[in-house]
Amino acid sequence: MEEFVALKRRKENFTIEKRGRPSDIKVGIFMPMPYNAALSSLFFQMAYTYINSLEGVIAYRYVFNLEEKRVEALDEKLSPRKLDLLLISLPFELDYVTTTYTLLHLNLLKRVKSSEKPIVVAGGIAPTANPLPLSDIVDAVVIGEAEEVLENLVYRAGEPSAIKAVSELSCVLTSSFNEVKRKCFVENLNKAPHPIHQFYSHEEEPVYGYGIRVEVSRGCPYLCAFCMESHVMYPFRYRDVTVLKEIIEKGVEFLKVRRAVLYSLSLFSVPSMDKLLNKLLEQGVEASVPSIRVEHATRERLELIKALGQRTLTIAPETLLQAHSCKIGKCYMVDSLLESLSYAYKIGFNHVKLYLITGFPGVSVEEELKHFENFISSLKSIRRRDFVEITLNPLIPKPWTPYQFLPPMSVLKNRHTLEQYKRIAKGGNVKLITLDVEWAFAQAVIALGDKSVSKLIIEWALNGIGLKGFKKALQLASNEVKNYVKNGWRDPPWYRCVDLGIPKLYLDLRARYLSAL
Ligand code: SF4
Repeated sequence: MEEFVALKRRKENFTIEKRGRPSDIKVGIFMPMPYNAALSSLFFQMAYTYINSLEGVIAYRYVFNLEEKRVEALDEKLSPRKLDLLLISLPFELDYVTTTYTLLHLNLLKRVKSSEKPIVVAGGIAPTANPLPLSDIVDAVVIGEAEEVLENLVYRAGEPSAIKAVSELSCVLTSSFNEVKRKCFVENLNKAPHPIHQFYSHEEEPVYGYGIRVEVSRGCPYLCAFCMESHVMYPFRYRDVTVLKEIIEKGVEFLKVRRAVLYSLSLFSVPSMDKLLNKLLEQGVEASVPSIRVEHATRERLELIKALGQRTLTIAPETLLQAHSCKIGKCYMVDSLLESLSYAYKIGFNHVKLYLITGFPGVSVEEELKHFENFISSLKSIRRRDFVEITLNPLIPKPWTPYQFLPPMSVLKNRHTLEQYKRIAKGGNVKLITLDVEWAFAQAVIALGDKSVSKLIIEWALNGIGLKGFKKALQLASNEVKNYVKNGWRDPPWYRCVDLGIPKLYLDLRARYLSAL
């Protein structure tokens, strides 16, 4: 079992030299993803520094090597079994499978664990929305944002009856998930700690490249109907430009890389963002900008983003049907999108990536495909093949969004439509990437699951972490699972354990408006 955890120290720019004492509370931070992806998580960066700054506590980092299918310990060859607390960051539902696979190998799965320690606690956007799928897998789930609870969680994990002590915390759900916990969130982002001393290694370039990662905002004011992130992270909060400038200046100095990777669900909704970007340009700091809304992609901004060193622009229209764009929260004019694409081409971007979704209820497939065909022909003036790269996903219904009432099975209906999109794309000069409909379906099955799906996830992990394992586990799943997969929920079970502060009436009314109920 021990070889399942291998020590793999990289030559990093920064590690914390903290001498542990036997009495210290030992906390592991596990990211169920490879090192270069884990580095881009600000939770990983923040938690490592913050936990190590606490008196009498020591933190150890772990990542998952997908090729070798085993855990890499980054600091010491210490089995997670020897810890007091294991924190697991789970931004996406499919990470549950890797996590379960890991916990099974370590004998730390809640269902088979023989002792209380280490307490295994998960957190992140997906479990905050719906912790139920993790009920047989972990001991507890943090509902909301880590900063609000981390210190108390760590010290309580050091107590003798740790699980009971942790269960008393306001936004931590333990054991059977039989009570409702309200989400914790940081009210003033300016006062929240932001990691400056970020670790990385020259041996493995981080996803999104080198540079200081900067969390500009949390949440998003648009609350698009399909977007779980914006609903879970509601309300929209941002750091003031003066605070951001300070973070970037210190980060650039510490990392010795004049580049900032900006994180925001809606960057240009942050007041004075253009001013900040112009300032960075003046100071010779490059910036990587996340995906933006169509109406935010003005000529001036495209020039600015290009001048800041970005070679690929990402825009997220999500639908090409103008009328429907307003219904889902993405109101824009297709002509403006075409104009932005031509302008991006003219000023020398290498690529533009576009995100689209198919399968919105109430939208005819024929109409959708007709618009796609027209759109592709309108791009013919852009002479470079594959300059426009479209990622097309089927609509994946998620909890706490107006589409939460759709059954997971609805995802599979898009299989044929995706094929038709591919056929049309072949006649144009765009590159079309589609998400495998089975993976999208698996995501929906977990996202919309109740406690019964926990066993399916364990069965999946026992059969390997690929799609075959999922199909086999689904065949063996209980009738409870098969029922919601086919029919969905009218009264979603996550309402009975999580309070995100989002009115249920809003979800009902908006679902009706969108023909999703
Ligand atoms: S603009 Fe993007 S991040 Fe914001 S709600 Fe819409 S999809 Fe989500």
